[in-house]
Amino acid sequence: MYSVTIIPMLNDNYSYLIHDTESQQTAVVDPTLAQPVLDVLAANGWQLNFIFNTHHHGDHVGGNLELKQKTGCKVVAAQADQYRIPGYDLGVNDNEVVMLGNLAAHIIATPGHTSGHIVYYFADHGLLFCGDTLFVMGCGRLFEGTAEQLWHSLQKLKRLPEATRIYCAHEYTQANGRFALSAEPDNLALQQRILAVKQARENGQPTVPSTIAQELATNPFFREDSPALQKAIGLSGKSALDVFTELRKLKDRF
Ligand code: ZN
Ligand code: FE
Repeated sequence: MYSVTIIPMLNDNYSYLIHDTESQQTAVVDPTLAQPVLDVLAANGWQLNFIFNTHHHGDHVGGNLELKQKTGCKVVAAQADQYRIPGYDLGVNDNEVVMLGNLAAHIIATPGHTSGHIVYYFADHGLLFCGDTLFVMGCGRLFEGTAEQLWHSLQKLKRLPEATRIYCAHEYTQANGRFALSAEPDNLALQQRILAVKQARENGQPTVPSTIAQELATNPFFREDSPALQKAIGLSGKSALDVFTELRKLKDRF
């Protein structure tokens, strides 16, 4: 058994605590700040064993040093990012596995938002912690990579089982939904989802986790091969990569 605890941070960040009930091991994914994590640990009587970082941006590693100092946890991050992850201890690479007690996290390299971005995929449990690569109805901005790199990265995530639950690092869902609707106004699943999301936010609920199935139905960056979407942005018949590249540009200007 395991549990995932969503910890909202600052305006729109999410950090996640993953706890393995059997081994009592706990990891936090992308701690923006230390204190909210320490509070959840204390409330549950858990020790922190690991920080799993997806990439080096400040809003994902801000709590690293304080958590390490106060809990003695180990910091896991992409080996490629070893010089820019505060408190870096254990380097991981594409296709490697890191264990949290009995839970296996498969590392998938997803360059694009940053060059060293990785995601943590718990295949046996259908959980994906994807940082700033994939968002609900959106995807990360290109800071250190090309559209082609990010597109290839997203293709890897697109092929995961449809029931996989997606824990992304930001609550950008409503803004993403507005852009998605502009790119595909007649998508019924999208229209319905936007209403559900509005309701959730009005009730103060997070819109994570999503699923791969939900993203396949509504995320324009997973739907670059949809004829209706291609038509709406004037790129009928273009390659998936061309459509994706244009979508990413349109979103930057939206
Ligand atoms: Zn970022
Ligand atoms: Fe971020």
